Amino acid sequence: MDTLSICKAHSKQSDMRCRNFAVKGKPVCHIHGGLSTGAKTEEGRDRQRMASWKHGMRSKEAIIEQGEIREFIKTCGEFIG
Ligand SMILES: [Zn+2]
Repeated sequence: MDTLSICKAHSKQSDMRCRNFAVKGKPVCHIHGGLSTGAKTEEGRDRQRMASWKHGMRSKEAIIEQGEIREFIKTCGEFIG
């Protein structure tokens, strides 16, 4: 038998913990996003992925791009002299 858990969300106004029951298998109640299935579109998933970025210079794409630029500068240096 599953035990019912209490929502782990806190109120923004009072900072009191929500007292609703959490959705089964989720840490929060239906009001605090327990029924959400996450981002569906590619745009939404990208926005979710970038939500915690400060500048994105350590992202996988940025690191690959920096490597390509470094490689290009290296080949330019070899070509010049
Ligand atoms: Zn809640």
